[in-house]
Parts: sequence; C-alpha cells; structure tokens
Amino acid sequence: MHSIKTSGIVLKGTNFGEADKILTVFTERLGKVKVLARGVRKIKSHLAGALEPFILSELLLHEGKTFYSISGAEIIKSYPTIHDDIDKIARVFFLGELIDNFVTLDEKSGAMFELFVSALDSLEKNSKDILLLSFQLKIVEAAGFKPELYFCVHCKEKIVAGDNFWDNLEGGLICDSCQQKFHHGKAISDNAIKLLRFIEQNKFAEIERIKDNLETREEAENILTLYVRGILEKELKSESFLKMV
Ligand SMILES: [Zn+2]
Repeated sequence: MHSIKTSGIVLKGTNFGEADKILTVFTERLGKVKVLARGVRKIKSHLAGALEPFILSELLLHEGKTFYSISGAEIIKSYPTIHDDIDKIARVFFLGELIDNFVTLDEKSGAMFELFVSALDSLEKNSKDILLLSFQLKIVEAAGFKPELYFCVHCKEKIVAGDNFWDNLEGGLICDSCQQKFHHGKAISDNAIKLLRFIEQNKFAEIERIKDNLETREEAENILTLYVRGILEKELKSESFLKMV
C-alpha cells in the first residue's frame, strides 16, 4: 500500500457507519482527497483532534481503492482564535466552501494550499473585512479565473479612469465605448477597480494595512460575489451564514 506523509486541512466530514467519518481533506502534496477515518468518532480516538475542520495537521495517508485511509494525524496549527469566534468561523466555512468548489478531487494544487494556509494564518491574527474580499479574489485567481482589470475585454484597449463596467460573463472590465455599443455590464467605480488591482498585487500583510472604505469594499465584494456565482453557477451555502453573523 502506497503511503504518503503530507500536511493537510479537513474541509468537511460526514459520518459513516458506526464510528467512522468520510473526510474531504485539502492536502499539500495530493490536493483535495477523500479520506475514510476509521473509528474517529470513538471517544478514545487519538486522531480526532487533529481531524477537526480547519486545523493544519501532519497526516499519514494510505492510498486505497475508493478512499485514502489514515493512520496518523498530528496538529501543526490549531488556530484557536478562529475556532473561538463565530464571525471568524463563518468566514472560514465560506473560504472552505470556496476552496472545495474551486479545487477538483485528486488534482495537485500547491499554490492554492499555500494560499489557504496564509489565509488561515492571517484570519487567526485579525478579522478585517478587507481580508475576506482578498481571500476570495486570490482563490478565484489561483483557480485560473484571474479577472481582467487592466484592458477592456472587448476592444482590448487600456482601461482609463472614468466610466467603466464589469462584464460578468467575460470576467473583466469593459470600457465606456464598448458598453455603449453592446449595452451590457455593471457600472464599476475607479476606486473599486483600484482596490481590486491593489489586492491582486499585494500580500495579505500589506492589504491589512490599507484604510478600509466601506462603500468601495462593498462594491468590489458585490462584483466578486457575482463573478464567483457565475463561474460556479450557484450560490455558496455558507454565504447566508456569513451574512447572518
Ligand atoms: Zn472596449
């Protein structure tokens, strides 16, 4: 049996049989995999703690026919602040669902894993609203859906300050003259464009430091939410939870 040691984060789990669980685990070396964790619901299980959702653990996995099995799990980072705060829990569930939707099973995605760990690290430290928008944009980009924020998706001309629009189907900006020609797209302000560009080009540590403008952020959030829904062709379940807390 092929065994692999890798760090990983449980995204979700469902009970199976009397004491087992089938886990969806995002791992560094294997990408997203399904793992059958035997006996993990028993009180005496020594693996249970490290297999709670949104904990970074070192895992020993064994390849099976349908699922991986697991014989070792040790916590690397438990993110206590995230797990103690309902607002952060809502955010982490939302991120987990985004990752789960954008990453295909058994497809290696090291960059996305790194991004998820740095998102958890930064959420553990603080919960600025701007970070949630940033995680979303970076996850979408890492999944191969980088929005076009510099050139008109129709005429390919450089976007200049003024009247510009967001084309949700093309996933990018359109200029004023193309908008007048084709009559589609949602108006987007220069500030929202600047904010999205800044997030795209910077790491979380830099993004945390910018002054948060509620109106601009909400505008950018709405556009990104629309974009994500368009790509996934659905609304994420955790979106409503996120809005409630
Ligand atoms: Zn154009």
